Order: sequence, then structure tokens, then C-alpha cells
Amino acid sequence: MNIHEHQAKALLKTYGLPVADGVAIFTPHEAEAAALELPGPLYVVKSQIHAGGRGKGKFKELPADAKGGVRLAKSAAEVAANAKEMLGNTLVTKQTGPAGKQVNRLYIEDGADIARELYCSLLVDRSTGRVSFVVSTEGGMDIEAVAHDTPEKIIAVDIDPTVGVSAKDVAEIVAALQLDGSAAEDAKSVFPALYKAFVETDMSLLEVNPLIVMANGHLRVLDAKVSFDNNASFRHAELAPLRDLTEEDAKEIEASKFDLAYVALDGNIGCMVNGAGLAMATMDIIKLYGAEPANFLDVGGGASKEKVTAAFKIITADPAVKGILVNIFGGIMRCDIIAEGVIAAVKEVGLKVPLVVRLEGTNVKEGKAILNSSGLDVISADDLDDAAQKIVAAVKTR
Ligand code: GDP
Ligand code: MG
Repeated sequence: MNIHEHQAKALLKTYGLPVADGVAIFTPHEAEAAALELPGPLYVVKSQIHAGGRGKGKFKELPADAKGGVRLAKSAAEVAANAKEMLGNTLVTKQTGPAGKQVNRLYIEDGADIARELYCSLLVDRSTGRVSFVVSTEGGMDIEAVAHDTPEKIIAVDIDPTVGVSAKDVAEIVAALQLDGSAAEDAKSVFPALYKAFVETDMSLLEVNPLIVMANGHLRVLDAKVSFDNNASFRHAELAPLRDLTEEDAKEIEASKFDLAYVALDGNIGCMVNGAGLAMATMDIIKLYGAEPANFLDVGGGASKEKVTAAFKIITADPAVKGILVNIFGGIMRCDIIAEGVIAAVKEVGLKVPLVVRLEGTNVKEGKAILNSSGLDVISADDLDDAAQKIVAAVKTR
């Protein structure tokens, strides 16, 4: 689960981290009042969407030379004028894709006087099996370019979980970020607090870009992007209210209601598969034969007919889907359950695109018999290659 910057900052504040004062607002007329609560003389008006790159982003509805999704203002009136221009419009950034995201809320923040912009993130490093700090002196808006052009400027420090952030770890980060004076002093509490917040709330990513050194020499968290690990959500009821459904893909929300592992993608072949590994392999083989999957979907091991029906409906509801590939290896999952689910779904929503079904394993005979006697126009396939080639061909000839 991703959350908004202002929510991430409020959370980090409870861990004692230095963040600016700010107010989240939803309507232009709240903007001026929000600014009047802040000390000034500098204010920042920040679009709250679940995507980075807002500063360099462009609003679809505004002229090309209009300012981006993060704006500085010098008075409450200027804050209000910017809010009016931004709210309700669609911000397109490197991370939103060309469709962009509608800006429904803004964060009005006390502006900082910036001396240096640094990069700091925390993530789970699968190669070391540890939480790792990734830091760079080259913070600000283009860390992807730094990673590409000057990877030596990005330094990772991984943390021993039995010890936590040690004085040695802090010293390593301080050296990597070339911090001195008050900033080096702040570092002694800032980095352990970031780690504590990450671990205690089960984040999978905490990105502070930029972490700034202010003109007064102190550190401040200027931007914050947080993703929580959904597998741990059962033990964080307190985080559930932070979810913003307007930021999520409607198909993914529907899938989560049925506990389906579904990820929307950009292609046109809808996939219904059991098992994450088989689902990945199915997407790979679709690509191998020259097409693109419209989604990742693992219906799981012991899916019910209702779950399969829901999955099929989610796939067919996607207007981008021009063909469907059902690929089931029945182990715990029974092929006849899949067949019944597919038929139930088709009866409800119809079938307007070619459907290739590859069934193998438990109750495969029963499954095939159910499909064959259903009167459905199903193209059956015997193995993964055959199935992928058939669906790619069926989509291409349409
Ligand atoms: P992003 O573009 O989505 O990553 O949004 P950020 O919150 O990182 O803001 C983008 C840029 O706006 C930062 O890198 C800063 O250069 C600038 N910015 C944001 N807040 C402030 C502030 O308080 N003071 C000043 N001077 N610049 C700011
Ligand atoms: Mg940023």
C-alpha cells in the first residue's frame, strides 16, 4: 500500500523526524487559511498523488509553460492562486504514465531554505536479506539519472537486524553524504529514527528525496514516499485509514476484495493463471511470441468457483483486453472448478474476445468436458507454447 507524502510525513514526525509544518487541503478556498497557519515567508504547494517526479511534472489542462506539481509561493494569496490552478487537474510525471493522475488534494507546507539536496532511501535488499540505506549526495529530482550515469555516487549501507543502526553505520552514512556540523549531529538521531519507522510499520520502501541540509545547517525530510508491505497489513490496523482508493487501479481494488493477486499491466492479453511462478512464465511466453500481457493474475491454489468468476470478470471488464489466456496447472486447484468459474462468468458478462484455455493436472478430463459441453467458443491448447501461440495469433488477426 502506498500513502501520500503528507501522511508519510505525519507518520515520520511521530518518530521524531524533522519535517516541516503543513496542512493537507482538498478545496481551493482551504488553501489560503492553511497558508495563514504557517509562519512563511516561503510556502510550498505540493500535489498529493501516489507518484514521484511531481516537481518536473506537467498539468494536462494547463499551457506547456505553466509551473509543475510542486510550487513555491511567497504569500497566502499566491498559495491560493496556485491551489486554484492545480486542484482537479491532471498531473503527468515520469511515474504516472501518459494518462497522469488527477490532483485531488494539496499539501501546503512551510518552505525551507535549502543548502543541499541529498538522497536517502530504505528498502529490503533481497541479496543481503537486510534492510539497507541507499544514499547519495546527488539528491533532488533525478536519482534515476544518477543511477544510470554515475552509479558510484550511490552508496548502500545495510543494517544488521540484531543490532539496528549502529554508530558505525551512521558514520558511514555521514561520510557518504559528506555531512558536518549540525547536520552530522542530526544524523545520529535521523537515520536510526528512519530505520525504526521502516521496521516498526513494515514498510517495503521509504524514500526521502530530497533529504535536505537547510541553510541553518540542520537536516530536514523534504519529500517522503512510503510503501507498506501488504503481507503485514493484518498487524497494522492503524494504517488502514491511510489508504486512498482514488489512487488505486479500480481493477486492483476489485481483485483485492476477492484476495486475488492481480496487477494491471499495459498489454492486451488478459491472463488467468494459478501460481505466481506459472503466472510469470505465462507473461514471459506471451512476450516471447510478440504480444504483451494485460495483467498478472494468480488465482491462488485453492480458489473457489466464486473467486475464479470474479477474476474472469475483472479481466473481461478491461477494455484493453483483446484476448484471454487461461493457463491452469491443477495441483491443489482443480481444473473443473476453473471451468465452472469461467462458464459462470461468461454467462454473466458474455465473451467478446477469443479465449484460449490450457488445462493440465487434477480433474483435467472433467474440466475439459465441462468446457466442451458448455457451447462456449473456447480454443483449447495442450501446453504453454501452444497456448501462447494460439492466443497471440487470435489477437493479431482481429
Ligand atoms: P517530487 O518532484 O515529486 O520528487 O517532489 P519534491 O517534494 O521532492 O519536490 C521537488 C523539488 O521542489 C525539490 O527537489 C526542491 O528542489 C523543491 N522544493 C520542495 N520543497 C521545497 C522547499 O521547502 N523549499 C525550496 N526552496 N524548494 C523546495
Ligand atoms: Mg522528491
